[in-house]
Order: sequence, then C-alpha cells, then structure tokens
Amino acid sequence: MTISLVDKENRMPLASAHSGLLRLLIVEDMEDDALLLVDHLRAGGWDFEWCHVDSAGGLREALAERCWDIVLSDYSMPGFSGSHALDMVRERDPDVPFILVSGAIGERAAVEAIKAGANDYVMKDNLARLLPTVDRELREARSRRESRAAEQERRRLAAILEATTDLVAILDRRGGVRYLNLAGRALLGLPEASAERPLGLADLFPERVVRRLTTEIFPWVRREGSWSGETALLNGQHSELPVSQVVLAHRDVSGRIEYLSTIARDISERKRFEAELEHRASHDGLTDLPNRHFLIDRFSSALQRARRHGRCVAVLFLDLNNFKRVNDSLGHAAGDALLREVARRLKRCLRPNDTVARHGGDEFTLVVDDLNHAESALSVLSKLNTVFSTPVDVGAHEVYVTFSTGIALYPHDGDNVDDLLRHADTAMYRAKSSGSSQYRFYSPEMNARGQEFLLLEADLGRAIEQGEFRLYGQPQIDMRSGRVAGIEGLIRWHHPQRGMVPPNDFIPLLENSGMIIPVGEWVLREACRQHRHWCAAGFGSQRISVNVSAAQFNDDDFLGKIRRALREEAMQPQRLELEITENVVMQDPVAATELLCELHALGVRTAIDDFGTGYSSLGYLKRFPLNVLKIDRTFVTDLDTDPGDAVIVEASISLAHKLGLEIVAEGVESESQLAFLRQHDCDLAQGFCLSRPLPEADVPALFPRQWN
Ligand code: C2E
Ligand code: MG
Ligand code: MG
Repeated sequence: MTISLVDKENRMPLASAHSGLLRLLIVEDMEDDALLLVDHLRAGGWDFEWCHVDSAGGLREALAERCWDIVLSDYSMPGFSGSHALDMVRERDPDVPFILVSGAIGERAAVEAIKAGANDYVMKDNLARLLPTVDRELREARSRRESRAAEQERRRLAAILEATTDLVAILDRRGGVRYLNLAGRALLGLPEASAERPLGLADLFPERVVRRLTTEIFPWVRREGSWSGETALLNGQHSELPVSQVVLAHRDVSGRIEYLSTIARDISERKRFEAELEHRASHDGLTDLPNRHFLIDRFSSALQRARRHGRCVAVLFLDLNNFKRVNDSLGHAAGDALLREVARRLKRCLRPNDTVARHGGDEFTLVVDDLNHAESALSVLSKLNTVFSTPVDVGAHEVYVTFSTGIALYPHDGDNVDDLLRHADTAMYRAKSSGSSQYRFYSPEMNARGQEFLLLEADLGRAIEQGEFRLYGQPQIDMRSGRVAGIEGLIRWHHPQRGMVPPNDFIPLLENSGMIIPVGEWVLREACRQHRHWCAAGFGSQRISVNVSAAQFNDDDFLGKIRRALREEAMQPQRLELEITENVVMQDPVAATELLCELHALGVRTAIDDFGTGYSSLGYLKRFPLNVLKIDRTFVTDLDTDPGDAVIVEASISLAHKLGLEIVAEGVESESQLAFLRQHDCDLAQGFCLSRPLPEADVPALFPRQWN
C-alpha cells in the first residue's frame, strides 16, 4: 500500500508536508465507493495507508486506535450520517481535515456541514476536485497545527516570563515598552494590571539611566547585538534599585532590528554586601572610624582640592596619653570602651568633609580640610579641648582624656600625603617629649603663632562682657556731592594688654567658635545706637552699614534679631545696610533669596561686599533683591598700574548701573584712583584717602564736611 509520491502542484515531496506515511480514514457504507476513492487518490499519485469504516462503532474504534491525517466521509449512510461522523471526529481532533464525499448532498446540507466544521465537500460524480481538495486541506491542517503549537509554545514561554523574578521587557525602537512581565511591575512598584497609558523608558529607569541607555547602551546594542552591565531601576517614586541588566537586539528576517529586549535582576542584596565588605576593609572594627588605608585616600583627595582652590589642609596626629594605664589597670574591655568614646567625641569636632581615622592602638589622625589659613587648624585644637574637658565614664571610673598632638600643614610643611603624615608624626613625638597634653606644629614658627592664637581665643570669651569691643566708622562718600552718604561700621577689639587687635585676627576665631552670633548682634545694636546719636545731632539721613558673617546669615533667628533691633533701637530700616559676601549668599541661593526678599520687605538695604573675589557667576545678581555692590579693595588698589583691574572696575560699575544697583569702591587710597572712579561714574567711594575708620566720637564731625 505504499507508493512514494510527489506533490505535483508545488513540486515538493509530500513526506516533507507530513512526517511518515499519510493515514487516510474513509467513512463509507459502500465498499466499492471506498475503493474508488482509494484508486482515485492513488491514480493521482498519493501514497498512504487507509482504513474504511461504515458505522459509529467502527469510527470510534478507528479514532481510538490511532491519529488520522485526513477523513473522507460519505454524507448519508444507513444507520449513520456524515454529520454524526463529523461530530465524532471533531471531538477527537479539531484540526484533522474532514471532507464530505457524497453522491447526493444538497447545497443547504453542505453549507450546514461546513458550518458544523467540515472542511469541504466533493461530489462523487466529480472526483476531479478530490485531489486538489485533499492536497489543500492537508496543507491548511498542517498550518493550523503549527500555529496551534506555536501558540502553545508562546503561552509556555510567557508563563515562564511571568513566573521569573527578573524584570523582562520588550522595547520598541522608540523606547516604548511593548511588554513588561509581572516581576518587572513588582520591582518598579507598578500595579499588576495596566490599562493605563503605555509605559516608556522613564517609567522604568531613573533619568540618568535613561540618558545612558539612549546615548550609549542602545547604540551599542544596535551595533553589537547585546550589552550587559549594571544600572538601576526606578523603585517606587524616588528610590533606585541597583540591577544587573542585559539588553538584546532582535532582528527580522531582513536583518533589520525589530525590537530590543531587556532583562534586569535586582542586585541590591549583593550591593549591600559589597558595601559592607568595603566598609569593613576601610574602617576600624572597634571604633568604626576610617582606618589608615582609607584615611590616606581621603587625605589625597583633600590635598587635590586644596591645590585647586588654594586652601590649607591640616593633619593632626593624636596620641592618647593615658591609654596604657587604663588598659593595664581597668582591663581591655574598659580600654575598648574608652577608645569608642574617644572616637565618638573626635567625630563631634569635625565638619562633614573632614576625616578622623584610627591609626593604630591609641593613635588617631585628623585631616581638616578647606582651611582659609593655617591658624584655622587651631580652632580644631580648641574644639578638642572643649569636647574632652569632661571625663569619659569607663565602667565605674571616670577618665580624663588627654592627647599629645602633632600638626603638619599643607602647603607649609609639605605637599604630599607621605611627607605631611611623617611630619605630623615627628611633631607628635616632640609634643610627647615636652610633657603630656601638649601640641606641636611641625614648623616652629607656627608654634609661636599658635600659642598666640589660643591665648587670644581664651581672651575673646571675656571680651563681650568686659566691653572690649568698639565699633569704628568709615565714611562712604558720594562722588557727585562730595558728602558722606553712609558709614560702614567696623569692629575693633581693645585688648587690655595687646591694645588694638584688627578684625582679621579675631573674626575667624569668633566664626569658628560660634561667638560671632552674639558679637554680630552687639555690632548691629551698636550701629543702631550710634545712628540714633547722629539723628540727635541732626545728621539722620546718612545710613550705617554692618558686616554680616555666614554663621549670622544662616542663623534661624537672623531675621528676628534684625526686627527686634530695629524696633527696640528705634532704627529706620532704610538707614540700615547689611554687607554680605558673595560666597555667603551662594552657599544656599534658594534660602538666601528668601531671606533677602524678607529683608527687602522690611525695608533694610543689602550690599554685596568684596564683589569680584568670590563666586564667579553673575546670574545671581539679577535674582537677589539687592541695593549695593562693593567692588573689592584688591581691584581698586592696582587701578593705576594694572589695566586688567581698571577693566574690571569699569565693567563692575556699568554692570551695577544696568542692574539698578548703587556701586561703592572700597579701599580708595589715592587721588588718581578717585579721579578714575569719578570719571567712570562710580557712585560712592570709601578708603583711607577720604578717611580712615574712626572711633565713634569722631564720626559726627564727618557729616558737615565736603570732599571734592
Ligand atoms: P570689609 O567689610 O571689606 O571692610 C573693609 C576693610 O577695608 C576694613 O578693614 C577697612 O578698614 C579696610 N579699608 C578701608 N579703606 C581702606 C584703604 O584705603 N586701604 C586699605 N588697605 N584698607 C582699607 P578692617 O576694619 O580691618 O576689617 C576687615 C574685615 O573684617 C572687613 O572687611 C570685614 O569683612 C570684617 N569685619 C569688620 N567688622 C566686622 C563686623 O562687625 N562683623 C563682621 N562679621 N565682620 C567684620
Ligand atoms: Mg564690609
Ligand atoms: Mg569689603
């Protein structure tokens, strides 16, 4: 019964359309008709094995026994019908072609049968249609089976994608998300069902990752086919989830990229673990302070920053004086507790950028960053004194902690980490050998200055109560009228032994210790008080300006203090001017704008002091409500000799005028500078050639004077 055949229409061996031999089931009551069909098909070149049944029972058996590739069925048979046969076949196999071959099926019955699931019908007296019909139906059945199998496969894969714990997404070429699995939604914190708008990259990734994907990763994938690496997913509204991610390009048959897919796996646990390991590798287990290794790292970055910005860095080597005794007499647990408490207190002395590290046993290292000048390192020493002025409780005992401290300074004592650490170490040994609780700078000259500074700081504490501060006044002269337009209040310290101490020597100490807040308030009150006296003497139209430090400006109660001073000192707000440097307002421009607006609303004037020396962006000038720009003294000093400075002064004057601000030139020392300023339409001038800062009593004599 087997003949190898060729599908003539498509010149394709049937064996490729059907694996194995074709299996034909004939439902027919007339055996001759069945044989006729067989002969006809064979004559057409088909090779098959076949079986013939003529009843429901026979059909059931045949269907149970095996699978059939095609069923040819008569329509009306005694005791059985084509439609019944159809039902039985369909129940078993929805795809197998079922062709009615009938001598007398009417048009209506044929249509009914096709509606019920028959694939076609062929009239017995026109068997010429049989071959092409069988051929076509076999092909269509195969394609139905294939797409059913493909659909099943797709469902299985989709089930796997939905069950995995990784995010899987399909992205179209524009970055639209065509598919996102369940785990993806869960990782992103999106609801499970998504009837909402279509998702885009920005719903899946933080902005910087979207930028990296579109500018770097996707172009790479389009070129190379795939990319893998670490990125992050958006996790809820604002947080990020670190992931390892793979992106693949998928091409159509012509090789064009049809879509991209991506798989992302949550690696937050691993990251935490890595961070923990890194922390352990860089920190001391007992105190949790950075270890020597990490300190060197931080120290070199601090030096790099200092080099760039022309700042100082101090490194302090601290050796606990009494540690060995504590350890020997109270035991190791007490020693550990002491070290931990020392670490905690040391941290309190530092600003966020500074570093304190445990160097070994009972040695600690401090790196103090971004200092204006070398003396600022001393304020750290005084903070250390303060935080260790109270004893540490170790079990039932109280221990006073003292250190021998060595200090080396960048750039004075070296320009690299090794030299500076070595010098701090040397200085520490000198301190130790000169007796306990001592400090030594590496350079002897700093030791002398340091001594002086610490003494001065101790005296400053008493200066306010003892009434040792004075507010001097220096006039600002109106260049057009030649009259005093305002007085700048400048603080002086009458030290009982040292005499007059200039502000640059003690303002940094006040700032470091926080004493600038009460002292600043004294200045403000004093300015208002003096102004009241001028009014009484008939000179009330001049204004008085006071300098405001960063700590004052950032003080939460700054505005309150101004309001109270204005009220209690009966000061007209528009006669008071506050001088603030660019750097102070630029620390937090948003908060500064708010504060400046409130001051403006109060009617108080504001001036930018030392203009040109600080923040280089001019954009802020138009945003802040200001009244005055004060060109820094350094530009005025070299006005005659440095053409660059002349250009800066000229440009500052025109900038101020265009922004509707008044402009003051500070530090005018010569007639030629004055002439230059007058020529370039500067509003006000202040400087030694007009008047030095004068004590309070001498100020009223300035008002009737005229300069020209
Ligand atoms: P500043 O606000 O820029 O004040 C101007 C400084 O330049 C004053 O120095 C003044 O005496 C000096 N000066 C004025 N004309 C000339 C001149 O023609 N040539 C030279 N070489 N110098 C001139 P002073 O009084 O020593 O004050 C220095 C700085 O101390 C001030 O600079 C200000 O930043 C700060 N300061 C002074 N008083 C106070 C205060 O009450 N509070 C705060 N926070 N800082 C103050
Ligand atoms: Mg000033
Ligand atoms: Mg100034």
